[in-house]
Amino acid sequence: MSTGSCLCGAVSYLVRGPLFPVVACHCTQCRKSSGHFAALTSAARELVLISGEVTWYPSSEIANRGFCATCGSSLFWDGPGPDLSIHAGTLDDSEDAELIGHIFCAEKGAYYEITDDLPCLEYNEAE
Ligand SMILES: [Zn+2]
Ligand SMILES: [Zn+2]
Repeated sequence: MSTGSCLCGAVSYLVRGPLFPVVACHCTQCRKSSGHFAALTSAARELVLISGEVTWYPSSEIANRGFCATCGSSLFWDGPGPDLSIHAGTLDDSEDAELIGHIFCAEKGAYYEITDDLPCLEYNEAE
């Protein structure tokens, strides 16, 4: 079980089950919305209980991005699959979460290099 919240605390969540491993997404949308690349864990949608008001932005035809309208924290990415992606930085305690790789490496910003030894995964491998 894991808990997390936005920066101001207006939105919090409880994950009543295991978290999937964390992937770093370098896609343009994650970079624009988070300010850098995004580290995302995920969990089965029905196991995530959200308290407070999340504002959902339809960032593409297939997905919505959930954020706190008060403090601006990026919290969720809700796509077509059965899982809800959760920005790993919003976890209160991330001891059970582990970064396993990168996705959308080809879209990364030119201002940084990916310097760890973790693989660049295809999107479906990361799911
Ligand atoms: Zn907030
Ligand atoms: Zn992304």
